[in-house]
Amino acid sequence: MITALAGGVGAAKLLRGFIEVLPPEEITALVNTGDDTVFHGLHVSPDLDTVMYTLADAINPETGWGLAGETWRVMESLRRLGGLTWFNLGDQDLATHCYRTQRLSEGATLSEVTRELARSFGVDIRLQPVTDDPLRTRLTLVDGPEVGFQEYFVKHHHDVAVASVTFAGAAESRPAPGVLDAIEQAEVVVVCPSNPVVSIGPVLAVPGIRKALMSRRDDAVGISPIIAGAALKGPADRLLVEMGFEASVVGVARWYAPMISTLVIDEADADLATAVEAEGVRCVVAPTLMTSKEASAQLARTVLDVAS
Ligand code: GDP
Ligand code: CA
Repeated sequence: MITALAGGVGAAKLLRGFIEVLPPEEITALVNTGDDTVFHGLHVSPDLDTVMYTLADAINPETGWGLAGETWRVMESLRRLGGLTWFNLGDQDLATHCYRTQRLSEGATLSEVTRELARSFGVDIRLQPVTDDPLRTRLTLVDGPEVGFQEYFVKHHHDVAVASVTFAGAAESRPAPGVLDAIEQAEVVVVCPSNPVVSIGPVLAVPGIRKALMSRRDDAVGISPIIAGAALKGPADRLLVEMGFEASVVGVARWYAPMISTLVIDEADADLATAVEAEGVRCVVAPTLMTSKEASAQLARTVLDVAS
């Protein structure tokens, strides 16, 4: 059994590999909910949906988020009305958020709704929000106010300097039922190649999670989301620097050293293996660019090999 800490796209691609090499019932994904937000009164869970749509083979391959073959009629109508349109939600995608919002309003937990949605999409790994409580990533901009995650990421195109990151609600939140058990009982804990600051950061901010992970350090393997000093997509590199870490596999190793004993880095960074090990983390060099299902499966096999 493996338990994976997951953000959006990077994690989804690795999990797509794991379902090729392990039975789905042996895979638990603990997914970030710090990106969750409400648009048009609807509860949107971007990382849960990215993972779910990817595993369902329904993801839009061009964007890496949303559904393939999507239409945008609701957004077009909203634009005519002068409604909120900076955050795009496709017509079919909207049904997911309607369903989630309705079920939450009936008193279901986010964990329960996520299970229902995953079943409908034919996703049979255990897809688990890290918490059922509100958890919201907030960023204080150097030249401006505090903004929510989607405002930073989508509205500002993550192209603004960040002074600090906080996770509203974290202190009062609890791990969702079964989350700590999933960490304690996993044969291997996997830290997916996700944004360390704003995807894995919120997961670690839920009380109890960091401690549970630290106790599993010997069996925990991370995969660097930084390749050759840069994120493939998104602000992981600049956020690491803004938090006082290097935008490199060495910075990633330092960030995760209390929680992982092994870091898988890309072949492009092979010359940094010694510097990674100087952070107290065993370093494994392997191809980590998941450009196909087969590449994802190969990386999943590598993770299982190095863990055993
Ligand atoms: P989100 O999709 O915006 O929630 O972002 P994630 O938390 O998934 O973070 C994106 C990170 O995943 C970026 O830093 C990417 O560099 C990393 N990533 C995406 N695809 C890959 C890949 O194929 N290999 C590796 N090693 N990292 C990846
Ligand atoms: Ca995300």
